[in-house]
Amino acid sequence: MKNIYLDNNATTRVAPEVIKEMMPFFEELWGNPSSMHYFGGQVQQYIDIARAQVADLIGAADPSEIVFTSCGTESNNMAIYGAAEALGSGTKIITTRVEHPAVLVTCRHFKEHGHEVVEIGVDGNGRLDLDELKKELASGPAIVSTMWANNETGVIFPVNEISKIVKEAGGIFHTDAVQAVGKIPINVSESGIDMLSLSGHKVHAPKGIGVLYIRKGTKLKTFMTGGHQERGRRAGTENVPYIVGLGKASVIAKHIISEEQTTVAKLRDKLEKGILATCPDTTVNGDIAHRLPNTTNISFQYIEGESILYHLSDLGIAASSGSACTSGSLEPSHVIRAMGVPFTAAHGSTRFSLSRYTTEEEIDFVIENMPIIVNRLREMSPFV
Ligand code: PLP
Repeated sequence: MKNIYLDNNATTRVAPEVIKEMMPFFEELWGNPSSMHYFGGQVQQYIDIARAQVADLIGAADPSEIVFTSCGTESNNMAIYGAAEALGSGTKIITTRVEHPAVLVTCRHFKEHGHEVVEIGVDGNGRLDLDELKKELASGPAIVSTMWANNETGVIFPVNEISKIVKEAGGIFHTDAVQAVGKIPINVSESGIDMLSLSGHKVHAPKGIGVLYIRKGTKLKTFMTGGHQERGRRAGTENVPYIVGLGKASVIAKHIISEEQTTVAKLRDKLEKGILATCPDTTVNGDIAHRLPNTTNISFQYIEGESILYHLSDLGIAASSGSACTSGSLEPSHVIRAMGVPFTAAHGSTRFSLSRYTTEEEIDFVIENMPIIVNRLREMSPFV
């Protein structure tokens, strides 16, 4: 069976160069970097190199602003928990309705613990209402957490503008850039943001490694307490092979990002056009002018996203839908619902996310088979 992987917003293949870079840290250099002896101590320098490599990818002014975590979820928790605990329960937390659960659920936790928490809405194209943000900030400084790019639609928020608005209002700004890093250029120094989350497994490094960028001077309570690792900001013995792997993945991403943006977007556009041309009653969800180059989210009217996924999977094509199966009924994703997509389209929303490893031959195969699947499912649909 074919293996056409178009679910790169869920996770990515670890780049072969990354695996190669990591191997010595399993086989030879496996000491604990905190050890006083030569065997552990020699490992520390490789963590420092990786820290500088990640800093370079996101434009951090100083590598010491990079803190290694276990994943994007931990980074988001660390940022929101750390800021909320440091500033106290009088501080308002502002986020958006379309965040990943790693942010949404964390913010809602603080709502139950005395903080005022506001979730800002988006329009039909998934664009953030900046006037609502300004209005919410008028009552005083707040912690603001908005994503850089949406995992389901690929819609990119105007993070530089958001950052400016938040900073002018005296707030702290965190961005979940898990989907943006490695796909579009990022410069945290120029953006003026205070904290940024990223995740290794979305940038061709392994699962189990993430980063929280913390601008120097940002007030933050330590989330993971224990040892003195990461300058006391995140306790726990460092995952050296994965840190080294993320460093290598960052170097590759930085090197090829501009070329990849064009080549991947070209294939994504071909796929999108091909599907829209051959499958009637289909629409693209999200702001097509401000999107990640690798993502398209398409609604197929009258059929369920899950059924499409099963049929694609039978052909060896991996894609994704935002629906969650809860209590026997398929609920459209909170992102698609927040955009106000009508019921019959929301249920058929399907996400295709490409990577540097996607080929034109694979895209042609999907375009060829999509109308066959859609026609078959519509013949059985009670909604047609
Ligand atoms: N934030 C966004 C936007 C994501 O897409 C994801 C994962 O899909 C996460 C956070 C969580 O990252 P991780 O899987 O590394 O915990």
